[in-house]
Amino acid sequence: MAGSRSTTGPIVGVLALQGDFREHLNVLASLGADARAVRRPEELAAVSGLVIPGGESSVIDKLSRLFGIAEPVKAAIARGLPVYGTCAGLIMLADTVLDTIEGQQSFGGLDIEVRRNAFGSQTDSFETDLDIPVIGKPALHAVFIRAPVVTGLGARAHALATLADGRVVAVEQDNLIGTSFHPEMTADYRIHRYFLERVDAVGF
Ligand code: GLN
Repeated sequence: MAGSRSTTGPIVGVLALQGDFREHLNVLASLGADARAVRRPEELAAVSGLVIPGGESSVIDKLSRLFGIAEPVKAAIARGLPVYGTCAGLIMLADTVLDTIEGQQSFGGLDIEVRRNAFGSQTDSFETDLDIPVIGKPALHAVFIRAPVVTGLGARAHALATLADGRVVAVEQDNLIGTSFHPEMTADYRIHRYFLERVDAVGF
């Protein structure tokens, strides 16, 4: 049909409550996924993978509870849905979050501790090249914006990337991937591609 887009890729949702979900939808579609905005439990039920975008974690938290999707997301994570969180999305996946606003909650699932806005007001945003063995060479040019860092790695999680000073900025644990930075803001989509490989492998 004219104007329709045919794809053979998996159905992958992007939690579209707040933040840069449109950029993730574009990246996923460009990689051949059937990318869909997810705001409601029925929409979540249709996906084989989910991206939680960057934005403001306290707002994503509030809206997800208001929209009644927080509990379904937690249940899907527990059942093994592949989920990739960037920046605020990483915060939403962390079991423990430092420097929250009062009452702020996360979905959890990732056995890590993160600190919000860990780079302070002096270095709100910066860019650097990261070696990420699971995506191979060359180094990935990574954009950090009011980013969190992983301050504690539980036994089940492992680091995918660290800054030169050793601080962990990308992690993986079974069905879950999180990055402090924003690959959707550059033209290098190897992390999204890696996530889609996981989505295919898990076959949720
Ligand atoms: N500082 C934001 C938060 O705490 C995250 C920033 C981002 O997603 N770029 O949610």
